[in-house]
Amino acid sequence: MNILVINCGSSSLKYQLIDIEDETVIAKGNVERIGIEDSSIKHTVSGQDEIIIQKNIKDHKQAVHEMLNMLTDERYGVIKSLEEISAVGHRTVHGGERFSGAVKIDEKVLETMKECSELAPLHNPPNIIGIEVCKQLMPEVPMVGIFDTAFHQTIPEKAYLYGIPYETYQKYKIRKYGFHGTSHKYVAQKAAEMVGMPLESLKIITCHLGNGSSITAIKDGKSIDTSMGFTPLEGVLMGTRSGDLDPAVITFLMKKENLTVQQIDNLLNKKSGVLGISGVSSDFRDLEIKAKDGNKRAKLAIDIFVYRVKKYIGAYTAAMDGVDIVVFTGGIGENSPTIRKDICNGMNYLGINIDMDKNQKAIGQKAVISSQSSKVKLIVMPTNEELMIALETKRVV
Ligand code: ADP
Repeated sequence: MNILVINCGSSSLKYQLIDIEDETVIAKGNVERIGIEDSSIKHTVSGQDEIIIQKNIKDHKQAVHEMLNMLTDERYGVIKSLEEISAVGHRTVHGGERFSGAVKIDEKVLETMKECSELAPLHNPPNIIGIEVCKQLMPEVPMVGIFDTAFHQTIPEKAYLYGIPYETYQKYKIRKYGFHGTSHKYVAQKAAEMVGMPLESLKIITCHLGNGSSITAIKDGKSIDTSMGFTPLEGVLMGTRSGDLDPAVITFLMKKENLTVQQIDNLLNKKSGVLGISGVSSDFRDLEIKAKDGNKRAKLAIDIFVYRVKKYIGAYTAAMDGVDIVVFTGGIGENSPTIRKDICNGMNYLGINIDMDKNQKAIGQKAVISSQSSKVKLIVMPTNEELMIALETKRVV
């Protein structure tokens, strides 16, 4: 059974064709710069070199067409016809309060997604276009939506409400939603498997540390709190996003610098985070190199990031009355022993004790990196959102 997983962004369309029986990727690719100059299709058949085709791709409809052509192409393809695709799983971002799991997409679901567009203006509209075009081109194939927010729908009211008038929640649904849900759920399940204990019996803190970062408290298999909020701006500071800050800073800055809503939004989302602090880069690889070379602000940016992650681990340990496992995932969590070591440093009193040697060796692969004596298991677990989407899609259809 082949499942096509699609992640449709504003100017890109990422895809993977997955054989769900043995959970392997048959082919994957990315249609990039849709509607912009220099668009291209990057397509890789498992075990072969990447093929790059430069082609003018004017819109998402053409992008879906190109993807399907590549998958069925005589030379580069992996299937003979679209009939070999049993279902399509769409990565969908915002499902508001309506979806707490994967759903089969029908007109009603699309309608709800459109209603939620205001909450995720950058993500939901391209997701919807991707779904609508796929429905046109593959009318017989079932489509499933896996929402980034769904896993966090178990967060209790006391954790998801903000301390502003209750009417703002009633009127506008202003509350914490949380994101990266598919990743948090996947790595938590895998970590539980790794220690050979049921997920439902564990207290897990999952740290998804990448360009966007979020931390989740998972108790008895359910998300009970997460660091991202109403939008992905809340929480730890990130590549270019500010993370938590005193809301008064926003009005103060707007007044002082005469900024429009759009300008402040841009400052907080695109110019802040470790990029804003360091003035060097949003990429942790660059920052680590610069910090080693003696760049003080690059070091400061890393220090702030590490400090914030550490605070969330402390907070979520308190929220769950303890912790059994801390999982590291995402580009940074999977690949940076230095940052993992710094986060865990000095947390002995919580039963968190890292094994330096194991940590150093765990790069881009799953591993237990806690010491024998550590009460809390520390685990590196590469995330695989596409596989999780494919598995959920199979379950739904
Ligand atoms: P996204 O949130 O866009 O999915 P990723 O999870 O792929 O991002 O993470 C990307 C980030 O991971 C990069 O910006 C980089 O800072 C970081 N990263 C990747 N490899 C390493 C590494 N070896 N050491 C430190 N940071 C790394």
